[in-house]
Amino acid sequence: MNNRGRAPASTMLQITSPVAAMPGIGPKRAAALASRGIETAADLIFHLPSRYQDWRERSSPDDLCPGITAVIEGDLGKISERPMRGSRWRRLASGWLNAGGRQIRLVWFNLPAYMRGYLPGEQRVLIRGRVSAAVDGGLEIAQPELHPLSEGEPKGLRPVYRVPTLVGQRLFANLVARTLAQISVSGAIPDEVRGELPSIQEALAYLHDPPPDADFRALQAGESPGHLALAFDELFAFELALLIERSRSARRAGIALENREALSRRLINEIPFELTGAQTGAIKEIGDDLARQGQMNRLLMGDVGSGKTLVAFWAMLRAVECGYQAAMMAPTELLAEQHYRGFQRWCGKFGGHSALLTGRVTGTDRKSVLRGLANGEVGVVFGTHALIQERVRIRELALGVIDEQHRFGVFDRAKMKALGARTNLLMMTATPIPRSLAMSLFANLDVSFLDEMPPGRTPISTDIYAEEDLSQVHELLRIELDAGGRAYYVVPFIEGEDDEAKSVSATAARIGKSALRGARIGTMHGRMASAEKDRVMREFRDGALDILVCTTVVEVGIDVPEATVIVIDAAERYGLAQLHQLRGRVGRGDKPSRCCLIASRDSDPASIERLEVMRQCRTGKDVAEADLQLRGPGDLLGARQTGALPLRFIHLVRDLRTIERARKMAEDWLKRDPDLASSGSEGARDALKKMLSLGFSLGDVG
Ligand code: ADP
Ligand code: MG
Repeated sequence: MNNRGRAPASTMLQITSPVAAMPGIGPKRAAALASRGIETAADLIFHLPSRYQDWRERSSPDDLCPGITAVIEGDLGKISERPMRGSRWRRLASGWLNAGGRQIRLVWFNLPAYMRGYLPGEQRVLIRGRVSAAVDGGLEIAQPELHPLSEGEPKGLRPVYRVPTLVGQRLFANLVARTLAQISVSGAIPDEVRGELPSIQEALAYLHDPPPDADFRALQAGESPGHLALAFDELFAFELALLIERSRSARRAGIALENREALSRRLINEIPFELTGAQTGAIKEIGDDLARQGQMNRLLMGDVGSGKTLVAFWAMLRAVECGYQAAMMAPTELLAEQHYRGFQRWCGKFGGHSALLTGRVTGTDRKSVLRGLANGEVGVVFGTHALIQERVRIRELALGVIDEQHRFGVFDRAKMKALGARTNLLMMTATPIPRSLAMSLFANLDVSFLDEMPPGRTPISTDIYAEEDLSQVHELLRIELDAGGRAYYVVPFIEGEDDEAKSVSATAARIGKSALRGARIGTMHGRMASAEKDRVMREFRDGALDILVCTTVVEVGIDVPEATVIVIDAAERYGLAQLHQLRGRVGRGDKPSRCCLIASRDSDPASIERLEVMRQCRTGKDVAEADLQLRGPGDLLGARQTGALPLRFIHLVRDLRTIERARKMAEDWLKRDPDLASSGSEGARDALKKMLSLGFSLGDVG
């Protein structure tokens, strides 16, 4: 890219200059722009064209046919205007274009702003628009764009903006051009390391006024060098922020847990199986981290069923053997209870005094748990939000574990940390993300991976069924139940929502009359009180129910080894990651399991393709990679932020290597200028300030 649009030495506008003060912008237009969030010069220049028009290639008159979008040169006859039938206000304009002897009718239902009060007839023009067949069999273009050749050649690539009609395309484009010429914008990336990358100023100039040889397709798709430069700059700032946060929290004091081994070793000796290599590795990493003085902020990523819980127990015991306390928070009561029971089973004899704190623990039981936590008698506590919501005091919390951390919000994590002044944090997730992406996505955290499954797992076979073949699925369920299995049956709706036939209760009633007659069927969904949900889930776990018809509430962490089938109705509605989580509910025992994906009648080919990918991918790693292929890393990154950070262009990143490059660049820069104190870091400092200005601590991202 060249240096077109470089700011002149004396700049007259600041990025904060109000649009309302610009020439041509009165109060009404200012208000219309403000309603689209365009109030300052910066808003203006970062309001990118939503698409482009290519005027570079003229169609030959002989090639014109209905359906194509064409640029045509010709002689424009007189344009006449008359009121539109049935409307007092709207006017219809029409005229003829003579292009090499072919007559093309032009019609405007809505006069563009530049034609109002002036109808540019009887001259040589370029016309751009979609050709259609007129009623009389001739050719017609409705609402064409017009460029009088008396003004010279048009711009080859014309930007089209989403702007209020009151402002119009041309006025907006002029405003942007004038602003860009009078302003100096800098990005986060220091000039010293920018290399070949266009500057922000160059990128904006490119996007608002593409050079004549620019790739039209890339511009339309948001993949042009200008787009990538903006995305990359944002990515750099983001990675920088994460890395800075990481080094800050490493400097924060955490309780150092020495290697005592008394209890943690015993756990390893007493469990009825061998640790996987990955578990041993993660335990080593966590142990080393806990032994340090700094605070631990670690994410444990592992596929569903990879055995994260055991690793967490080990770390909790390390806290206890060193004389401190540990807490583990899970998103549902049932899961908290499951962890508590698991801990009792494996560590009950030696793990010291452990307790459960959920909404179900009330009265004197609750009082005694709270007392035990406050005076240090309770060494290990498992719980839900109750752990952070109530006025819980913990004497000296050395370790907080958050299971299924993606289910918790930013503030929940902060509150968990706030339970102790020097609490170390271990977060766990099964969200399938490729390792390389995770390293950049969670650059503020240390990450341990459990990328190995315990041995002896039977693979889950996945099949896709058409809605018409439901009876086959029911037959299959019958066979599984007769063999002593249990089944999840996931449907998309609760009664009263959308498609009644696919609601929990309608489905439960229907399958009760099918080949599954006589089966004990329970129902569960997100609108049920949590005590009620837990009751049903418990019945299913304990074998009092054969089939659990439910919504995706069942997604999280529940371990019922006897469940051997999961049916997912309307499976095309879900993303790969979610399908994988759901599928992970089965295949937890020693019997082979299956997953039946039912595709709705009206599902589109792309979603069927996604189901096919799901059928072929067995591990979380496969799913993660496929998801990355389908969605692109920018989308995953963007989704992670859920609007918390003002990241506007990151979703344009299509390539994993770009993310790695940005991270590398941020790392290298921090080595050169750790405190961002040099003048080269000025843009980076501004970008960081912007990110943090929303009262958002990156330390809570994760
Ligand atoms: P997740 O990582 O999804 O939270 P869990 O911690 O619930 O997985 O473990 C799934 C199951 O695997 C549990 O029943 C657990 O007891 C078992 N498990 C964990 N580690 C091993 C191992 N090394 N060998 C065999 N089974 C294991
Ligand atoms: Mg788990």
